[in-house]
Amino acid sequence: MMMAKPSPALLQRPGDAAEMVIRGARVLDPRADLDAVRDIVVRGGEIAELAEPGAAEAPAGAESVGGVGLLVLPAFVDPHVHLRVPGQEHKEDLETGTRAAAAGGYCAVIAMANTEPPIDSAAVLGSVRERALFEASVPVGFVANVTQGMAGGELTEMAELREAGAVGFSDDGLPIRSARVLRRALQYQRLSGGVIALHEEDPDLSGDGVMHEGEVSAVLGLAGVPAVSESTMIARDCSLALYERARIHIQHLSARASVEEVARAKAAGVEVTCEASPHHLTLTDEAVRSLDAGFKMNPPLRSEDDRQALIEGLRDGTIDCVATDHAPHAPEEKEVPFEQAAMGVTGLEKAFAVLHTELVLPGVLELETLVERMTFGGEPFGIPAPRIEPGAPANLVLIDPAKEWVVGEDGYESRAFNSCFAGRTLTGRVLMTVAAGQVAYRRRSFAISAAAEVAG
Ligand SMILES: [Zn+2]
Ligand SMILES: [Zn+2]
Repeated sequence: MMMAKPSPALLQRPGDAAEMVIRGARVLDPRADLDAVRDIVVRGGEIAELAEPGAAEAPAGAESVGGVGLLVLPAFVDPHVHLRVPGQEHKEDLETGTRAAAAGGYCAVIAMANTEPPIDSAAVLGSVRERALFEASVPVGFVANVTQGMAGGELTEMAELREAGAVGFSDDGLPIRSARVLRRALQYQRLSGGVIALHEEDPDLSGDGVMHEGEVSAVLGLAGVPAVSESTMIARDCSLALYERARIHIQHLSARASVEEVARAKAAGVEVTCEASPHHLTLTDEAVRSLDAGFKMNPPLRSEDDRQALIEGLRDGTIDCVATDHAPHAPEEKEVPFEQAAMGVTGLEKAFAVLHTELVLPGVLELETLVERMTFGGEPFGIPAPRIEPGAPANLVLIDPAKEWVVGEDGYESRAFNSCFAGRTLTGRVLMTVAAGQVAYRRRSFAISAAAEVAG
């Protein structure tokens, strides 16, 4: 009998290995303790050399990219996106979703499993992984469901799903309501590896809420989702994880009480990581006064005090990573009254620019910290954060940190345009993304000037 080869965690469409020199950019990688102007030589898709500016020798046939005044960072990793495959390709698919990721500077994304059908069997998982080999311009890892049909009852075949390549497990979109079911899943997690990523809310407390429960919901007369709907479940699940010595990842924190629960759990030795989204870090429920369904998502935008706690958590490391929770929807699912609109917003194409503009430029967050949090997202799923060092695969993003642009002015790479930042002027634009050694994105105007430099 042939032994099965271990399945790679991340899959993408094969392409040409990058051959290039990026000259004279500021190269910043906090994990490699690197912040200096350098020439970066990429050969055969690997970082071959970091040289003093002007000192690098270009490999034969390599492209020369002018980097003066630009920033090179390790490319980003998003632990939480919805690529809608299989079954909801009218919202997004692997090609459009990974194109959006590449345009946002990402070199890897983790796709959620609340699809149609959900990814609750090795057969469905195998089919989406197969499609990624033909359609994904950026490496994609797939989680599988925790429970069959996301119904919250019977567990999936977690060990088999791990063997078939699942990077972890999640019923995201829905909480795991039963503590008994989650406890059993945690017991299997310990045996099978991976991590269980949890969408935390208590359905009894959320009820039919459509926004944050607070002053604004009271004024608008809309049903609210209280912050304790999230934090009480986080407390429960951290206790269960500690008791079972299992690993969990808490998705999209939105509230101060949630940050406090995670901080307590980490101090108590729980193996827990967590994420926060650009929209929860930069917007509050005040935005919902417009009744624009573009500001409807789950968890909801919360109060300014909650937002400040998320920023502090991101700064001090209680929050490990930024996740966009990229949730594309078709226009007809959003262009309806607020209460009926679908939950969720897109995120991949502007996450860096939003956080750079709203947190880094005003001096609220160090750029180094933002880079660490935007590159860590694969770690909970066993995917190491990219590094800029010789011998490493080229996972790089080239950014013009001073470039102002308006979200949506050139359209989107995503099939969807339900962005809560549409029309905003942001500072910092991705010009090129190299993902797993392949050029995954190149901004059009920038491509022309780079080509001219090669010709000249
Ligand atoms: Zn969720
Ligand atoms: Zn989600």
